[in-house]
Amino acid sequence: MTLLERLRDAVGAAHVMSEGDLAAYEIDWRKRFAGKALAVVRPASTAEVARVVRLCAEHGTSIVAQGGNTGLVGGSVPDASGTQIVLSLARLDRVRSIDAANLTLTAEAGCVLQRVQEAAAHEGLMFALSLAAEGSCTIGGNLATNAGGTQVLRYGNARELCLGLEVVTAAGEVWDGLSALRKDNTGYDLRDLIIGSEGTLGIITAAALKLHPRPAAVLTAMATLPTLAAAVELLALAHATLGPGLTGFEIMNATSLGLVRRHFAALRQPLAPSPWTVLVEHSDFENEAHGAAALEALLGRALERGLIEDTAVASSLEQASAMWHLRESIPLAQATEGPNVKHDISLPASAVCAFVASTDTALQRAFPGVRLIDFGHLGDGNLHYNVQCPPGIDAAEFLRRHEHEINAIVFDAVGARGGSISAEHGIGALKRDELVARKSPVALAMMRSIKAALDPSGVLNPGRVLSPSATP
Ligand code: FAD
Ligand code: ZN
Repeated sequence: MTLLERLRDAVGAAHVMSEGDLAAYEIDWRKRFAGKALAVVRPASTAEVARVVRLCAEHGTSIVAQGGNTGLVGGSVPDASGTQIVLSLARLDRVRSIDAANLTLTAEAGCVLQRVQEAAAHEGLMFALSLAAEGSCTIGGNLATNAGGTQVLRYGNARELCLGLEVVTAAGEVWDGLSALRKDNTGYDLRDLIIGSEGTLGIITAAALKLHPRPAAVLTAMATLPTLAAAVELLALAHATLGPGLTGFEIMNATSLGLVRRHFAALRQPLAPSPWTVLVEHSDFENEAHGAAALEALLGRALERGLIEDTAVASSLEQASAMWHLRESIPLAQATEGPNVKHDISLPASAVCAFVASTDTALQRAFPGVRLIDFGHLGDGNLHYNVQCPPGIDAAEFLRRHEHEINAIVFDAVGARGGSISAEHGIGALKRDELVARKSPVALAMMRSIKAALDPSGVLNPGRVLSPSATP
């Protein structure tokens, strides 16, 4: 029997798609990576995932795991060879259980993040991972990329929100590591090895997730600032004033919000354009009035010190979500404007201003008129420092000619200041060669040993994160 026939046997013919329009599975969200799958296979259970992996391993066919296909580094789509299987986890979409007393929830990998948030909310609890793609990204993808998002400064990234995993290994065995324990020191941490491995070490089929109490009130405000240095000072003041209540601190430069204004004119911007705008979120565990007073105190002190120029405090949930919507519309506004070079870098908060000042200058010198779309999670030192071509020229051509040079300028500056070239989106195909060029040889050798040990035949997402030659 051919592999496709055996796969049809394993999961049902309707769930092995090899003809027709498979673009939704073969092209990534940014439309920068377009591949061709031998088939898209949609198993419905962990046992079916294990069978699919065993069959592919027997036939020497490699597997690209896929959740919501919202990844930004080209790791979730097949290559152009037409020989890879896309293993979609979309049908593993059950919330298996919630243990309110233990503050945990166990969900299957294909559960859309928003559904997990809603299931937790239904119990009066909160799942604290939050990102703009939450309506379509999945828990499996979030963990495979160790996603960050907007609340990392308080609750940590996906890794910190995960207690246990169920994983199908490259040999098609099931590792049941779905423990919901907060303390477990029984040997190497396999969970943390799989988290962030981008489908190259194992297929996540379910996860035990950490929940948190829901705050009594969430207060949101925006403020404009003259400089990035003022934003960094405001962050320190917000930590000091709000303590653990500080759950969001996002910055946006004028160019970012300008693009939102151009492409989403219907979205009301509550403050006049300014070099920088911050969005601050405070979660209060007493009540609304207590929270509002804390936020007012922060803004009052910041005004007194001349850190901020103008403020807008949301007075309803609608206003708060409109503020977040502005922030979350920046990637779409950028995509609408045209192809661009995305960076998701992180730096120590103390190095952010010097990095932006010197890198802005270097890029402007090299490419006069280039537009710098700076926004992101300043609260955890993570900037989306994106580069859009000067207005009025062919963006695709600009990227083709200059992307490499732009990356060199940005990543050299990041490296010089002790930063990371990927704070949250991962390596995938997009940054693989940069990783090889920039990560320490000792770290790369350790990574290659791990890959060779867990996936000796290179069945799982080959050529992503590490080059294929990394596997014998
Ligand atoms: P996919 O895109 O399907 O896959 C991503 C990677 O994980 C691939 O390498 C894939 O092979 C692997 N994978 C997927 N599922 C599994 C599985 N079950 N087992 C093993 N491997 C698997 N990221 C952030 O960190 N923070 C943000 O704030 C953020 N904002 C975003 C906003 C937008 C508008 C978009 C489009 C993306 C954003 N992202 C952000 C990118 C982020 O990586 C994804 O949204 C999300 O974490 C990926 O989930 P997914 O289910 O779509 O995974
Ligand atoms: Zn982000």
